[in-house]
Amino acid sequence: MFSKLRLPPPYTLGAMARGHQKIQSQQKAQEKAAKLKKQQGHGLSDQMKAAQKALVFSCAVCKSQMPDPKTYKQHFENKHPKNDLPAELKDV
Ligand SMILES: [Zn+2]
Repeated sequence: MFSKLRLPPPYTLGAMARGHQKIQSQQKAQEKAAKLKKQQGHGLSDQMKAAQKALVFSCAVCKSQMPDPKTYKQHFENKHPKNDLPAELKDV
């Protein structure tokens, strides 16, 4: 009778197995989040590279350097309204 009580009832085993699966899925989720974080970190450095690359925008008239085409277009429209807008800015 006592030895029978020491054996865990079947429902306990099932609960343990489910608990283990839960831990595994939590670990997987953490790994996934870590990977995502890494990917986002890469994306950020790529964006920074792109931003640095974009600094080569320079005004065709006064050679001022512009961080992005929108700023360049605004600059061009404000400072050189009599000049034709460069083709690269027409669809900005
Ligand atoms: Zn200019």
